[in-house]
Amino acid sequence: PLDAAAKIANLFGAGLRDEIVHAVDDVSLTIADGEVVGLVGESGCGKSTLGRVVAGVHPATKGEVLFRGRELSTQSSAEARDTALKVQMIFQDPMSSLNPRLRVQDIVGEAPKVHGLVDAKGSEEYVAEMLIRVGLDPTYARRYPHQFSGGQRQRIGIARALAVNPDFLVCDESVAALDVSIQAQVLNLFMRLREEFHLTYLFISHDLGVVEHLSDRVVIMYLGRVVETAKTEDIFESANHPYTQALLAEVPRLDTRKRKFVPVKGEIPSPLNPPPGCHFHPRCPHAHERCRMEQPLLKEIAPGRFSACHLNDGA
Ligand code: SF4
Ligand code: MG
Repeated sequence: PLDAAAKIANLFGAGLRDEIVHAVDDVSLTIADGEVVGLVGESGCGKSTLGRVVAGVHPATKGEVLFRGRELSTQSSAEARDTALKVQMIFQDPMSSLNPRLRVQDIVGEAPKVHGLVDAKGSEEYVAEMLIRVGLDPTYARRYPHQFSGGQRQRIGIARALAVNPDFLVCDESVAALDVSIQAQVLNLFMRLREEFHLTYLFISHDLGVVEHLSDRVVIMYLGRVVETAKTEDIFESANHPYTQALLAEVPRLDTRKRKFVPVKGEIPSPLNPPPGCHFHPRCPHAHERCRMEQPLLKEIAPGRFSACHLNDGA
């Protein structure tokens, strides 16, 4: 099932334009066809950079990205165009990603026309169908982005992505700007679309709670490195890494049994100049001598579960 795999190995990404440069260091990530992977960490951990590299929006300066077994940088221009349609990215702020001067008809209908998925005559009907699929009134096609609420705009952004018939969606903080009740509706929409379109997702969020019900597997990043990855239920039942445990403490839950961990304290160190040894040691309640000296490697601690912490060596 590794067919629709996007794989990153040993890559360094750099932030775009005037953003801070994030180093993504020695990360390997494989996403199976139909899988939903939640990628979680605090801001500056490199998760957005990793998402942009996986989506092909931003080239890896080192390492490789494979889609369906093909290295992106070695694709022919025709293959690259096809991949660019198959892999779509959905961003946090729908307003800044929707052209305010275009009607929804053109926002959603332009790319399918350009890429020959629909002809000019069929475009209106096609856009109407996409709007219905994301739970919007098809007559909205005549309106402009400013005439919608944040949740509706995000649905328009999703309709635009779906309109080019993608297989893989990279969602970067796609519900972070929305009210909690609207967040739940949009998350439910993502889940429904997963079934209807047989989609694969990389779902990036700073909030572990957001990815809980959506993800099959969770990948936790800290300062450019993956510190833990496991099936979602394993993360929530028995998080291994002290950083994951700290993130869990911040997820509001009715079940007080789970509140045994202390939220993560202290400033996030600069990703440009991470602490030596385990990057998490200045904030870790379990830090010991070895943690200040030696970087822990990601190790398989149980089948399908990986964690990078010296405590797993009994030290
Ligand atoms: Fe904490 Fe040490 Fe484990 Fe890092 S290696 S998470 S500092 S116990
Ligand atoms: Mg980000």
